[in-house]
Amino acid sequence: MPNAKPDNFEISADPKRSLDFVRTIVKTDIASGKNDGRVHTRFPPEPNGYLHIGHAKSIFLNFGIAEEFGGKCNLRFDDTNPVKEEEEYVESIQEDVRWLGLTWEGAPLFASDYFEQMYAWAEKLIEDGKAYVCDLPLEEVRQGRGTLTKPGINSPHRDRSPSENLDLFRKMRAGEFPDGSRTLRAKIDMTHANMNMRDPVMYRILRATHHRTGDAWCIYPMYDWAHGNEDSIEGITHSICTLEFEDHRPLYDWFLDSLGVFHPQQIEFARLDLTYTMMSKRKLLELVVDGKVSGWDDPRMPTISGLRRRGYSPESIRNFCERIGVAKFNSTIDIQLLEHCVREDLNKRAPRVMGVMRPLKLVIENYPEGQVEELDAINNPEDPEAGTRKVPFSKVLYIEQADFREAAPRKFFRMVPGREVRLRYGYFVTCTGCTKDESGTVVEVQCSYDPETKGGDSPDGRKVKGTIHWVSAARALDAELRLYGHLFTQENPSDTAEGQTYLDHLNPDSLEVIRDAKVEPSLAGAAPGTQVQFERNGYFCVDVDTTADKLVFNRTVTLKDSWKKIEKKGGGEKGG
Ligand code: ATP
Ligand code: MG
Repeated sequence: MPNAKPDNFEISADPKRSLDFVRTIVKTDIASGKNDGRVHTRFPPEPNGYLHIGHAKSIFLNFGIAEEFGGKCNLRFDDTNPVKEEEEYVESIQEDVRWLGLTWEGAPLFASDYFEQMYAWAEKLIEDGKAYVCDLPLEEVRQGRGTLTKPGINSPHRDRSPSENLDLFRKMRAGEFPDGSRTLRAKIDMTHANMNMRDPVMYRILRATHHRTGDAWCIYPMYDWAHGNEDSIEGITHSICTLEFEDHRPLYDWFLDSLGVFHPQQIEFARLDLTYTMMSKRKLLELVVDGKVSGWDDPRMPTISGLRRRGYSPESIRNFCERIGVAKFNSTIDIQLLEHCVREDLNKRAPRVMGVMRPLKLVIENYPEGQVEELDAINNPEDPEAGTRKVPFSKVLYIEQADFREAAPRKFFRMVPGREVRLRYGYFVTCTGCTKDESGTVVEVQCSYDPETKGGDSPDGRKVKGTIHWVSAARALDAELRLYGHLFTQENPSDTAEGQTYLDHLNPDSLEVIRDAKVEPSLAGAAPGTQVQFERNGYFCVDVDTTADKLVFNRTVTLKDSWKKIEKKGGGEKGG
């Protein structure tokens, strides 16, 4: 089992670390003067869904390389399939890339802007006898290509003359044939060991309105024909993609060499997979459409917009991508590493505040009625610059239900009748009793305080084992807290038994809503996106659903970090 950090683990910003294999290739190319030392990469999403954390890996790799080697990185929408693509996705993708802190070269580019150039190149291949119009329906084309163990068979239309092919292809474009009735195919080798080389389809007839070109075209280029051409047109030097395209590279090479145009070098790397989630845009779309989540930006989604709403910062995502490195073998990363990265970041940045998830009334019997003291609380012990704030203390407070037990087990150091505990930034208090309702549920706890212990220290050096958080009942704000679990119940949701799908592994408890939490008054007016640590309860982020009456918080992550333990054991990567 490989270690959590692949061999070529590196943080690119740190020159002392070794380069990953992609950067090594780039560096070697610069040294040898290839492409006149130019480095030009691109991030080429298909606008058929929102970006996810896997895309972030590709984004940081492509933009990172451009940045580090003085090159450029394009943002190009690979919009060659009119059926699944939408303007909404074009907008969200730009927003997400910007939010991650990256700037693309010039304006965003669109593959659809190259339709005319690609069409001209297709005519050139036809004229050179390297492409032909095939009258077989798509299904028969597919069958005729054979299998891994069975060679394909030549299309009966394979030996048409270039002039006949040109005429037919022009008629295809002119709309003279019905959808799906003909294709343009590359003339390569129907017995080739690589299935991709068995006369692949370059164009299909499809009357669909494109989000940018409208109804100008009724033939659309296939991905394999289009993708390498797009890179060539833009002068991309290093065309970085995921491993599943390794088998397609010989075809891209064949197209570019046959055309005699600029030839980018394709480099494949392992895609990101995370436990307890998945990255397929098709499946993520299904979750959105079926209402299994509230939208693409549901905080449980692995999308960039979901992570943003959940409270992840761009820095934590970047840091995660740097830690996982770039390798040539597929593996699944433990989602706890991602959580570890956001904790690390928020630990440094998030102000500490007090909030009670499940309030229980605490009455300090010897505290003066009506008195309110403004006590000093430290904003962030990790950041001395963060200073202090005032929190109101009064006779009636709320504490966590979980912090009181009438009969306590041995290691319970919180509030128990007869025992003294510290109220954070407040006083030492000793529990004197509790009140229950008819059903036996504790509805109020009573205590007495020691006025000599203001600020949470006793002048006589007396120690207490427990410190608990609280809020003033009179001054607390109402809040809704949304707590999240993993979206799926098993590490690999796609690992399904006969008759099941990944949907059978959706976690029914992935969202818990606490509607009557109480938080300290310093949070009044906190804007959506504000990040805090509710002491002992986790890191939270103000949600866009917040109203004038009620603050709504998403829990970004709990405080308990199990990653360090996992890392020590040499885990972190699953399978692969
Ligand atoms: P899907 O198959 O779910 O539609 P995709 O890979 O086709 O995903 P694209 O929009 O084509 O999605 O991806 C844009 C870029 O992001 C591609 O260069 C692709 O290699 C990269 N990418 C997509 N998913 C991942 C991932 N999980 N890890 C790393 N890179 C990824
Ligand atoms: Mg794709």
